[in-house]
Amino acid sequence: MNEYSAVLLRGGTVLPMDETRSVLTDTDVLVVGDRVAAVGGNLVAPDGALEIDATDGIVMPGMIDTHRHMWQTAMRGYGADWTLTQYFVWYYLDHGKLFRPEDVHAGNTLAAIEALDAGVTTVVDWSHGLRTVDHADAAVDALEAIPGRHVLAYGNIQQPPAQWSGTPEFRDFVRRRITGDDLLGFQMAFDVTGDPAFPEKAAFEVARELGVAVTTHAGVWGATSDDGIRLMHEHGFMTDRTVYVHAASLRADSYHRIAATGGSVSVSTESEQSAGQGYPPTWAIRAHGIPVSLSMDTSVWWSGDLFSAMRTTLGADRSREHLAAHAQNETVTHCTLRADQVVEWATRGGAHALGRSDLGRLEPGRKADVVLIKNDDSPVSFPLLNPYGHVAFQAQRGDVHTVLVNGRVVKKDNKLVGIDLAAARRAVESTVDHLRGAMGEDAWRQGMNPDIPETKVLDNPYTYTDYRSTATHSR
Ligand SMILES: [Zn+2]
Repeated sequence: MNEYSAVLLRGGTVLPMDETRSVLTDTDVLVVGDRVAAVGGNLVAPDGALEIDATDGIVMPGMIDTHRHMWQTAMRGYGADWTLTQYFVWYYLDHGKLFRPEDVHAGNTLAAIEALDAGVTTVVDWSHGLRTVDHADAAVDALEAIPGRHVLAYGNIQQPPAQWSGTPEFRDFVRRRITGDDLLGFQMAFDVTGDPAFPEKAAFEVARELGVAVTTHAGVWGATSDDGIRLMHEHGFMTDRTVYVHAASLRADSYHRIAATGGSVSVSTESEQSAGQGYPPTWAIRAHGIPVSLSMDTSVWWSGDLFSAMRTTLGADRSREHLAAHAQNETVTHCTLRADQVVEWATRGGAHALGRSDLGRLEPGRKADVVLIKNDDSPVSFPLLNPYGHVAFQAQRGDVHTVLVNGRVVKKDNKLVGIDLAAARRAVESTVDHLRGAMGEDAWRQGMNPDIPETKVLDNPYTYTDYRSTATHSR
């Protein structure tokens, strides 16, 4: 699969993401086959190895996104001004049914390419547009054609989870397509309504029987609540592999249940800030000791790179801390959430959420998912004083120089390797044409440009009387 027997990244600043969050300067990383073989100084390159000059760059594990609706990338940016309500109406009620298998394929392909370009080597495809098994086959076809690491989180917003997960076609799909390939994991993706009858029970039983993890949008204002968490807990379906997405509007009782059962929370700060699931919850879940991973949710609104996730998560957490202190007439003199913590969430945190201790770290024996951030032409690339701070606040996707997935070089010299972007573009254009045609021009425009609520400029007491400045008055 690789034209190189080994890859040696020479002389970089290495963030191995070990327990102590070390920073190793002037350090080499040697990859042999699909594994990290060595991390150290002056390593010898085996014959036939590709040597990459990593000086003035940062070498870190590939980033892991634990929740991205990849099929929606075909509508990139369309919903920039949406709320969650408008999103639900557009996808769940009105237009989600228009997506054909080839449209899921087009979105997934572009999303998978976009992830690699940004150094995101593992993506959980929270694929809830799988109306039929043909859609699911198309989703997997796309994921398998792009050399990233993926987890298909199978979902279908057009049917209750007990219904779609109970069909023989679903079982057959899992048997056919989920074969233990290291590059393709599997989860079941559905939400828990909080209905006291707990209609999701049968879907949880299917997940348990298949031995797969469940990922669920939890604590989403107006949609999923503490009731769903309580029902899951009372029926014994909360496990250490369960991933709670957002978990942004939950009470302490729910966080206690998540913490006690060992699950993790996938925080999508850009999403929570705009869509309205609740305040980005890292400030609360930190306090409960719940493991965190990061995610981007959907490119129909936001960016698809974890640099933005790290940046916005630091900002939101610190904003909340300052605001809470100011409400007590106090001042925060020391930030609690640190840059190295969000880099850990973007790497090891994702690996933990997926139960993959072989990912998210650069140590001998771990899987070789590796990112080199280096851009000698960028004025933002130096000085490199605080590497964690640099990753979280300075770097961006254009600075991703080299990416390896499972030891394979998929980006090199700031360019993707062996990716047919023109074909991906044609497929997405065809999907956009199809959707636009099926919706009609008016609905298409209205969907993208929701009404703005009426706002009124506030009364201003200083405009009641004529004002003359003291400068003119005092003469
Ligand atoms: Zn989501």
